[in-house]
Amino acid sequence: MQIETSGILINMRAFSERDAVAHIFTRDNGVLVGMLRGAISAKKNKPLVGQYGNVSWNARIDSQLGVFHFESEKNMVAPLMLNNDLLKIMNSVFALIYTLIPERESYENLYNDTLGLLQKLPNSQSPYDEYLKWEAGLLGELGYALDLTKCSGCGRTENLVYLSPKTGRAVCENCGAPYADKLYKLPLNLNITKRFISGICATQGVDVPLARKMF
Ligand SMILES: [Zn+2]
Repeated sequence: MQIETSGILINMRAFSERDAVAHIFTRDNGVLVGMLRGAISAKKNKPLVGQYGNVSWNARIDSQLGVFHFESEKNMVAPLMLNNDLLKIMNSVFALIYTLIPERESYENLYNDTLGLLQKLPNSQSPYDEYLKWEAGLLGELGYALDLTKCSGCGRTENLVYLSPKTGRAVCENCGAPYADKLYKLPLNLNITKRFISGICATQGVDVPLARKMF
């Protein structure tokens, strides 16, 4: 099996003194895992997490760990490296994709959102708001789409002050009043999305990535 696409290197760990096992989030095939030969021992053009480029991936049989050829075009995260907040956001984005997105399944929207976020962050006035939008998109991709447009009880679009932890849908002040202590208070923020993410991690039997616990 051979795949040619483009993608972002999101995780790399040493396999031997020379080689690494890499996770690349690709445009067409979602997360691919494979060997990146010479990634550890390379003296120049060493692959780095956050690089974007052309990816080719080969596996002789489907179940086998593939082998990558990765040609970096640019380092998406170089402009983020000097800012601690941006670095935290980037680490969280990569860790969540690495932890929660299954291999070899296309996630085109999330891929485009991720590239868009990495491009926007260096010049953003409100990076955590941009990140919150990305995370809400991630929840949607994982089957927990939030609906903040109308009340899930009565359908009204005004006074939406609560969010249901069960359904991820907004609830208006009137409908929510009797259950106020069981509902999240809008506006949406990173503590709320973190609780949804914790729930998803629990169902998948994995820990919330450390990088997401940093904020
Ligand atoms: Zn209502």
